[in-house]
Amino acid sequence: MTKARKGVKRLLDEAEKPLSALDVGTLMEGVCDLATVYRSLHYLEENGFAESFVLHCSAHGTERYYVSRKAPHRHWFHCERCHRFIDLGACRIGAILKSMESEAGVLIRHHALYATGLCEGCRGEDSVSELVEKERGEEGRE
Ligand SMILES: [Zn+2]
Ligand SMILES: [Zn+2]
Ligand SMILES: [Zn+2]
Repeated sequence: MTKARKGVKRLLDEAEKPLSALDVGTLMEGVCDLATVYRSLHYLEENGFAESFVLHCSAHGTERYYVSRKAPHRHWFHCERCHRFIDLGACRIGAILKSMESEAGVLIRHHALYATGLCEGCRGEDSVSELVEKERGEEGRE
């Protein structure tokens, strides 16, 4: 593996959140250029060292994010207000995918899933009680 690929792999292995190519490019500044970063990420994904998903956020657009495959495959939450990623833990949709496979007669080799919304900090006490009140109001109408 080239020095650049090793460097990018180490970044992904040590990262605690998904990184975009631009994030990696910033962290690799002075080591290699962005074109090399893109090629390295592509190489790492092709060879099973990394996986990626495309996430859309209204504030910063559509971006592909990379995570190391050193840790078990997992899913991520992205906060629409503070834009941080939160680890939702190891994938738990294996059984659902299996049943989709047999129903559709296909072989699923890849899936991507992420969730967006408000993190605990951004929800705040106010918004939680607002939500509860809204739910109560809806129940009252029924
Ligand atoms: Zn947040
Ligand atoms: Zn965002
Ligand atoms: Zn999964």
